[in-house]
Amino acid sequence: MIKVGFIGLGTMGEPMSRNFLKAGYNLSVYDVNLKVVDILVNEGAKACSSPREVGANSDVVITMLPNSTIVEKVIIEKDSVMEGIASGGIIIDMSSSQPSSTQKIANILKEKGIEMLDAPVSGGPPGAAAGKLSIMVGGKKEMYEKCLPLLEVLGSKIFHVGEAGAGHIVKAVNNLLFGTTLVAAVEAIVLGVKAGIAPEKLVEVISVSSGRCYAVDTKFPNIVFPRHFKPGFTTDLLYKDLDIALTLAKELKVPTAVSNVAQQLYMVGQQKGFGRMDNTAVIKILEEIVGIEVKPYLDSNE
Ligand code: NAD
Repeated sequence: MIKVGFIGLGTMGEPMSRNFLKAGYNLSVYDVNLKVVDILVNEGAKACSSPREVGANSDVVITMLPNSTIVEKVIIEKDSVMEGIASGGIIIDMSSSQPSSTQKIANILKEKGIEMLDAPVSGGPPGAAAGKLSIMVGGKKEMYEKCLPLLEVLGSKIFHVGEAGAGHIVKAVNNLLFGTTLVAAVEAIVLGVKAGIAPEKLVEVISVSSGRCYAVDTKFPNIVFPRHFKPGFTTDLLYKDLDIALTLAKELKVPTAVSNVAQQLYMVGQQKGFGRMDNTAVIKILEEIVGIEVKPYLDSNE
């Protein structure tokens, strides 16, 4: 059986890597956070002391890391996967990374006879735990087909979308839309609540009407109404994803007037200390301005 390495065992990487253990794969893991490494070792993974060691122990190495600076450090810099993995090995970056960085990494790896796919995901921690992520894959078609059985351990809707970097472009475009609709949903629902409508009624109606979107039908009931704002998907990571998309838009001279404004609101959220909270915490900015809190009337006994 193929030997798998996994680097980046955070909110997403921990449940994703666990699915390889459940499927019976030989799994080597690395993270700078040793606590989560211990958890997976107790479940059968082998701990490695560097990305290089993960590479040396694996046929295929998967990365699930916060951003492209860290992805480059782990894959191509000192003590990296590239230094350990044999020629013919495969590296799959499943993080939401900058497409230009992905193309640079893929070219460097190609020179060493190492293959690369970019395969970012959507579906959040519940999709990761259930092995039901959406996966958008960039890279050579034959490499995609070869890796499909591994990707099927993690996801149920898997698409080959183009050459190296294409997966990361699709992911950035998807998250630009999500981040923008979330801000629009927050504004609309805060307005409805300020005007006297019960939040749970608003969400119930909008979820079956023309304003429906993931931000309203999933994020409000699961994160905003319980008011826990636990990630999920942090404000910092969504800000980074919008940055990837908006940088690409600037390079290609595509106007992005509405999503630029949305990104500014996430920056305000970061300045207010919401960076490590779920991205829906952006609603607190508007709530504070208009003096309300969006929580179900029934729960607050009003
Ligand atoms: P996270 O911050 O929870 O996890 C990142 C992990 O990487 C942490 O365990 C951290 O210790 C580790 N790490 C950081 N630097 C490292 C290094 N140099 N070497 C080894 N490990 C290192 O983030 P997450 O929410 O799991 O997201 C990971 C990636 O997936 C991001 O690119 C994010 O944009 C993307 N993503 C997240 C979600 C989500 O819902 N959280 C959904 C889709 C995609």
